[in-house]
Amino acid sequence: MSYDNENIFAKIIRGEFGCIKVYEDDHVIAFMDIMPQADGHTLIVPKEAAETLSDLSDDGAAAAIKVVKKIVGAVKVAMDVPAATVMQLNGSEAGQTVPHIHFHVIPGSILGGKPHAREMADQELLKGFADKIIAALG
Ligand code: AMP
Repeated sequence: MSYDNENIFAKIIRGEFGCIKVYEDDHVIAFMDIMPQADGHTLIVPKEAAETLSDLSDDGAAAAIKVVKKIVGAVKVAMDVPAATVMQLNGSEAGQTVPHIHFHVIPGSILGGKPHAREMADQELLKGFADKIIAALG
């Protein structure tokens, strides 16, 4: 399937659409999920134009997982939780709603929890969580 350059995460990466950012480097950007499954739900998005994990280069995958690891640590500290879930959906049949590769870091467990991409969160609340995560990233 061909990559859709106009998807929302491509626009965020190009700076055409805003986000509540917690981290950025040359390869990856991380920001708060606007319809979170839990307080502190963060998305890690490789900048490479790829729809699913299978489309991402090995270097892109390596860069992304390093940031996922950092964000897991920071989210646990920032949200004061003992555990976090990493979720990554590949393809709409798996529930992927944005056609650009990304990893979810969700404080706590998602088993039995609320589904993702349903309810918009308050932006000020998200900014508060982002500040805590940024502080925990050091
Ligand atoms: P997935 O279903 O795995 O593709 O997850 C996409 C995630 O992106 C969902 O959890 C949405 O809540 C989230 N999302 C969609 N649009 C935005 C946006 N503009 N900024 C931040 N998160 C978003």
